[in-house]
Amino acid sequence: MARKKAASEKPGNTLPDKLARLGIAREQDLVLHLPLRYEDHTHLCPIAVVKPGAAWQVEGVVVRTDVQYRGRRQLTSVLRDDADRGATLVLRFFHFYPNHQKSLAVGARIRAFGEVRDGSAGLEMVHPSFHVVAEGTPLPDRLTPVYPTTAGLSQDALRKVVSRALESDPALLAETLPPWTRDPASLWDFGRAVRYLHQPPADDASAAIQASLDERRHPAWTRLKFDELLAQQLSLKMHRRARAKRRAPRLAGDGSLTRILLERLPFALTRAQTRVLKEIRSDLTRGVPMQRLLQGDVGSGKTVVAALAALQAIESGKQVAFMAPTEILAEQHYRKLAEWLKDLPLQMAWLAGSLPAKERRKAIEAMTGGEAQLAVGTHALFQDEVELPRLGLAIVDEQHRFGVAQRLALRQKGIGDTHQLMMSATPIPRTLAMSFYADLDVSVIDEMPPGRTPVVTKLVSERRRAEVVELVRKSCLAGRQVYWVCPLIEESEKLELQTAVALHADLSATLEGCEVALLHGRMKPQDKSAAMQRFVGGEAKVLVATTVIEVGVDVPNASLMVIEHAERFGLAQLHQLRGRVGRGSSESVCVLLFEEPMSATAKARLKVIYENTDGFEIARQDLLIRGPGEFMGVRQSGVPLLRFADLERDVKLIEQARSAADELLRREPEAARAHLERWMGGKQAFLGSG
Ligand code: ADP
Ligand code: MG
Repeated sequence: MARKKAASEKPGNTLPDKLARLGIAREQDLVLHLPLRYEDHTHLCPIAVVKPGAAWQVEGVVVRTDVQYRGRRQLTSVLRDDADRGATLVLRFFHFYPNHQKSLAVGARIRAFGEVRDGSAGLEMVHPSFHVVAEGTPLPDRLTPVYPTTAGLSQDALRKVVSRALESDPALLAETLPPWTRDPASLWDFGRAVRYLHQPPADDASAAIQASLDERRHPAWTRLKFDELLAQQLSLKMHRRARAKRRAPRLAGDGSLTRILLERLPFALTRAQTRVLKEIRSDLTRGVPMQRLLQGDVGSGKTVVAALAALQAIESGKQVAFMAPTEILAEQHYRKLAEWLKDLPLQMAWLAGSLPAKERRKAIEAMTGGEAQLAVGTHALFQDEVELPRLGLAIVDEQHRFGVAQRLALRQKGIGDTHQLMMSATPIPRTLAMSFYADLDVSVIDEMPPGRTPVVTKLVSERRRAEVVELVRKSCLAGRQVYWVCPLIEESEKLELQTAVALHADLSATLEGCEVALLHGRMKPQDKSAAMQRFVGGEAKVLVATTVIEVGVDVPNASLMVIEHAERFGLAQLHQLRGRVGRGSSESVCVLLFEEPMSATAKARLKVIYENTDGFEIARQDLLIRGPGEFMGVRQSGVPLLRFADLERDVKLIEQARSAADELLRREPEAARAHLERWMGGKQAFLGSG
């Protein structure tokens, strides 16, 4: 029988739903839902004594509560300290629920904790945490945990369910690790560490303990970080073992196509290209699905290696899917491959979201019927109607750019049992690679093709913009081409667009007689492609673009790159953008226009990009400036982020976890399984290679 549900029980709004949004499905997950930080609620401070600029806990009686409109709708409530009549404090809320108003009724006794600041009506706390208490309610004797939470789930509610989970079943706190894994690292017992983190005792040393907890230096944290890293390593290693047991077709090829391409290329492969190609070729013949990551700095020549791998698969009677994250890049690959493979006995097909219905149907038919041996496109290749019945190899370019959803779609397409080659220009420092890619084989192209002149980088103040425009004019007159990258405006895509359009109009007027093309994210795919083609073909001399050009485009005649407001870009982006020039034989220049004042971080970044050209060194510096959490777009990449461990600071722990994982799998596979079950419970937590 249908029952009318309360508002809080609407689908998506029940407690389990909210917990699910935090990744919590089981009691065990609650136990492992650890605090972000702690508050010290063990003392009360009289309202007359609190000072702005620090957090305090106060207690008082509500003398007024109302909703006001002062620019913004807000709830304000005035507390009066009854021990010290007259001292009052304002509690201010910009987001609030009817419940807030109810609890803050006049006469209620409230305990509030928060940062105090000077407000328009005297001292105030904005969005303090608070409770209604009875007079004389004892203070807690432990630090109060503050958990990561989600909309509509209060800290109090979360604390309650976590405490309940801690008491529910001793098995949830039981030790999974044999002593020989714990002892060398002097790790705390699991149950002790978890309890401590949820309910740290408060005593004279509270402040010091709180600091070591907040900074995650405390031994209790060390234990949890170790466990997390161990689970990650176990998962990746088991993944790898499982793969070794799977079967994939042996694609030895007969060399008939690869030989022709190698003869045709206007260049010889570099030693590094030859080496990685050999690694890939041998993987393809092994009868076990390849999962190889091909790393190489921008411009190191990954595409041709992929093309040769594709031909080997096609020679073996298989289909190949070649995917890129954007249409522009996919189309560029398609054209390049079509040129390289002209007149060879093989059929290509092209598929992207913007294709007209008729051509789309034709492409899909050719793929599904198996006639098209080389399918090039965006992730549209993995839509439901598309089938590649003889798929033998999937190539994913700029794999770190694919979103999590797209990787999952790939996985569901049963790509798991075909050979996979992933390519990435994101140089990954060793600690990250060790941690994230333990389930992949990695090949690195560590050498640039010969004949490149290094790019000269210039830092130029916005005040000298006119000189830069002159430089652009000269380049165009000399028959060379120019990229002009628009400022990144994170707060507003619309503003970014307007800037691009205005800049395009401006340059078109100033650079009379020289065609300026425009490329931005909001253009229709056909228009984007047309603009790009005019630039590739050389008709357009200047390409004004938002950062859409960042990914992989290749126009060797372009020798000048101007990046406006370079101080707003991240290091990875700057490095990728600069990599678009210096591909031909003429001397190339990258002008970084900056505007002052700049933050210290922005200055540090520009210094790094000015002084370095090696992608790995830039990545290392990036890690130092930013910290790994935000490292080079790892966050968007779908690579499993560690919740607790810190890749830079916990390098030693990563190494310990790695060797413990090997030994545990060898000596006590049951303990390994129990450990994984605790940390991941059947969840496919690690997308790893997609
Ligand atoms: P990325 O690794 O950034 O994807 P590309 O594959 O786009 O680099 O290659 C960059 C440019 O270098 C292309 O124009 C490509 O044809 C050229 N190239 C690749 N390998 C060589 C080589 N061995 N010698 C000379 N040029 C090469
Ligand atoms: Mg590329």
